[in-house]
Amino acid sequence: MVCRWYGLCPLRRFEKQGKLSKKWENEYCKTESNWKNCKRYQMEEKNIYHPDNMTPDGKIDKRAVKDVFPISDEDTLKRRGKI
Ligand code: SF4
Repeated sequence: MVCRWYGLCPLRRFEKQGKLSKKWENEYCKTESNWKNCKRYQMEEKNIYHPDNMTPDGKIDKRAVKDVFPISDEDTLKRRGKI
């Protein structure tokens, strides 16, 4: 069973754009149950904000930052120690 957010997850967009490795999809999203360990999934379930470019391990993929966030939002994330 794939993650129930598979079709809506913003990581699919980054994969299509070639900005993100398919390893996340293969190691989390499309697995039988490892999607439960995805930080994005866990935060979504708790209705906790998480940026589009946060990977399943809870880290921010810096390559996608400028394309996802205006500079002001990137600065905010830096101040919060997220990137
Ligand atoms: S990144 Fe996480 S929330 Fe998104 S589809 Fe994959 S397992 Fe689900």
